[in-house]
Amino acid sequence: MKIYFIKASAGSDYSKYKAETGGPPQNIFAAAAATPKQHDIDMVDETIGMKADLNADADLVVIFMSTPDAYRAYELATAFYDQGKTIVLGGLHTKFNQAEAAKYAHALIIGEVENYWQQVLIDVEQGELKPRYKSKEPVDLSQIQPYPTDIISPSQYDYTWSVVISRGCPFKCSFCLVHEFFDSFTLRPIADIVAELKHLKTLGVAWVELHSDNLTHNKAYAMDLFAALAPLKMKFYGETTVLIARDEDLLVAAQKAGLKAVLLGIETPSVDALKSQKKAFVKPEKMKEYIRIIQKHDIEVWGDFLFGFDEHTNDIFQQTQAFVTDIKVDKVVPHFMIPFPGSETFKKLDTEGRILTKDWAKYDGSHAVYQPKHMSTTELEEGVYWVWEQNTGFLEKLKYLF
Ligand code: SF4
Repeated sequence: MKIYFIKASAGSDYSKYKAETGGPPQNIFAAAAATPKQHDIDMVDETIGMKADLNADADLVVIFMSTPDAYRAYELATAFYDQGKTIVLGGLHTKFNQAEAAKYAHALIIGEVENYWQQVLIDVEQGELKPRYKSKEPVDLSQIQPYPTDIISPSQYDYTWSVVISRGCPFKCSFCLVHEFFDSFTLRPIADIVAELKHLKTLGVAWVELHSDNLTHNKAYAMDLFAALAPLKMKFYGETTVLIARDEDLLVAAQKAGLKAVLLGIETPSVDALKSQKKAFVKPEKMKEYIRIIQKHDIEVWGDFLFGFDEHTNDIFQQTQAFVTDIKVDKVVPHFMIPFPGSETFKKLDTEGRILTKDWAKYDGSHAVYQPKHMSTTELEEGVYWVWEQNTGFLEKLKYLF
């Protein structure tokens, strides 16, 4: 069977940011890796400027979408549907908007794909596709295959690649979808990661995202992982929490492994906002000290900051700018807090009648899509743009590490 995997993108700034910072998108690569060899695969990742080919010779078209890309995915699904092809939709937006997505597909794939993917393919071939597929268990990461490098090559990602370390997150921050999408926090065997990295090194990949939403949560695992990565002499970055700064052993091991940068969700200097978002483990008053400790190990700190929490008034932009200058974060990544459907925050805002639009194209990080509590939508938009302007050059600076 001929299968065409598409990561849809509407080309928003948010998609571009994800593409610049994250390497290959997880979903199309995970599904392609789980596909038995007897099938012919083609893939397109629109987040890096590729365009889906509407003349593609495929029996099955599988489209993954995030919320701001939903309409692009539906446009593609409709075009292929009209040609008589079998359409399957997956990705974050599909999981949390199943009734909507079902209008454009023969089947939906919900959550992690590997446990049921072979069954989907068998059902397509036998003409017995079911409307929805969902795994009852989290995927055993010892069973996943390395992501393919021979369909979309690492050169198309500027030799930046992404290797799965874990899935899920043990925390449950209200605005976040990670813990809603994955049922549990699971870790991949270290030997499999090392084998995949050795192969990537032969292809010229030197800059790798250790793909995890919480790279150092399990200290014993992280110590073993870092020890195994050190001999590879590659450069890595990854996402974790600021709690890494409390552990000198971990930082020493990370430095020896080649970890060059960590992305930390610092979010906001507002203690009240952090508490209400169930992220009180971030302590603004400790950040300056923690960041200095991390930087002492030659690891850059990239800070994610969010704006628009109910505790924010319109002085939060200047306050945050003063805060990032004071704590000396290496790169500032400011965002609107986007209440993605499926998140606790979206449910709360919707219940309170404060969601201003369900035009998903606007959930792209460039628009205020809900009514903030203590400022106007214009104040929120102008404030975020102002912080962006104060911290320009983030994406450009990333390049020096390539
Ligand atoms: S924001 Fe970060 S720490 Fe919180 S649940 Fe999401 S991934 Fe985990």
